[in-house]
Amino acid sequence: MDGQDSRALMSDAAAMQSQSAADHRLNSRGENRSRLVVRRTPTPGIWNPVKIITIASLALGVWIAANTKSILYGQSIDPLDYETRKNRLLSETPLIDGHNDLPFLVRLQLNNQIYGDNLQFDTGLASHTDLKRMKMGRVGGQFWSVFVECPRIVHLDDPNHSVRDTLEQIDVAKRLIANYKDLQYCDNARCALQSFKRKRISSMLGAEGLHQIGSSIAVIRQLYELGVRYITVTHNCDNAFATAASTVTETGKDSGLSDFGHAAIREMNRLGMMVDLSHTSHRTMRDVLAITRTPVIFSHSGCYSIGKSMRNVPDDVLRMLSDNGGVIMIFFAKKFVRPEDPENANLNDVVNHIFHAASLAGWDHVGIGSDFDGTGSVANGLEDVSSYPRLIEAVMRRGATDEQIKKLVGENILRVWRENEKVAAEIQNGVDSQPVESFWEGRAQPSFEGSLPSLKGFQ
Ligand SMILES: [Zn+2]
Repeated sequence: MDGQDSRALMSDAAAMQSQSAADHRLNSRGENRSRLVVRRTPTPGIWNPVKIITIASLALGVWIAANTKSILYGQSIDPLDYETRKNRLLSETPLIDGHNDLPFLVRLQLNNQIYGDNLQFDTGLASHTDLKRMKMGRVGGQFWSVFVECPRIVHLDDPNHSVRDTLEQIDVAKRLIANYKDLQYCDNARCALQSFKRKRISSMLGAEGLHQIGSSIAVIRQLYELGVRYITVTHNCDNAFATAASTVTETGKDSGLSDFGHAAIREMNRLGMMVDLSHTSHRTMRDVLAITRTPVIFSHSGCYSIGKSMRNVPDDVLRMLSDNGGVIMIFFAKKFVRPEDPENANLNDVVNHIFHAASLAGWDHVGIGSDFDGTGSVANGLEDVSSYPRLIEAVMRRGATDEQIKKLVGENILRVWRENEKVAAEIQNGVDSQPVESFWEGRAQPSFEGSLPSLKGFQ
């Protein structure tokens, strides 16, 4: 049976149920009427006031019985009335996108100068994202990426500006958020929900690659202090912690997660820093899923079975994700959505990825992570941040229920975030609660020429 048949059946069944409930109420009111008539001595004639009041009450009762449910719960909405379903759903659940790279465009094109007429974020930009279109797209929350590129270095420990540049991206993202009253900076899941109730777009920070921390676990802690709530384990380069998907594409070699990477995951779990597995190699995904104590995210990924790119997630990992409790947030980047024919990648391809992930991992484990402003071209039909309602309607037409779509648009990522907060609190209150002090053996150790007191050998 395909989606449309099942929707038609649902519609018929709902209609029959509603009719039968109304009939039942009518009968019950009818019996009441006979009892009233028997007890009283009626005055003949149609203008008998008792009769008029009784009939009016009956009519009112029948109307209330027929409409109360739809007034209170809106359950009488026709399943094929996509517009009403979309409106209701997006007014009840925040749509939270997992990945948007606008701050990186601001860095590249505006040197992070956002004031005055430099960045017309509220009125309109030529890129994928601005405030006006976010409102049209009914965006309820956004993880803004504080991405900087992999450093151009030969050895991993060569000096580079990644940490400085990441701090600048955190700075500009926070200034951007603070500059618009429609945006609300959030560093916890409760804030994201409260902002939605106050009709503001919750704005969170995510870093896109452990190359951004200079091979130092201490920097993960400091990024957390600064409000970053997820870090992608790799971007398009290997780092001291793990192998990237791009490396496997180029060399075929996949070393997965390093021992130092294990230590980083342990610290991220302890902090409640969500572990993002987008961009990582498949072996890295499996290695992390085997050890993490918290649900992971894929902030912007697709399914390998639908689009044969190493950047996408294989089926066995989708099943592992279900056991882990995490979420894969599906992206719109043409080259990954339909790698064999990117030019024609469209909205329906994105829906294919969503349904494939849902069929293997379950509807509790899918989300949306567009990658707007982080990729040159996005799927036809999903051109910018105003497009989300179109995607939701396509998912509805494919047969998903409103409950499933609520999970997809926001409930799942909020659950995963809350779970990370909860597990982190448990770890921090447990016996093995101290911060991880592991350091990367590949780094040059500090030295000092001259004489200083010794910490060891106290007498
Ligand atoms: Zn990316």
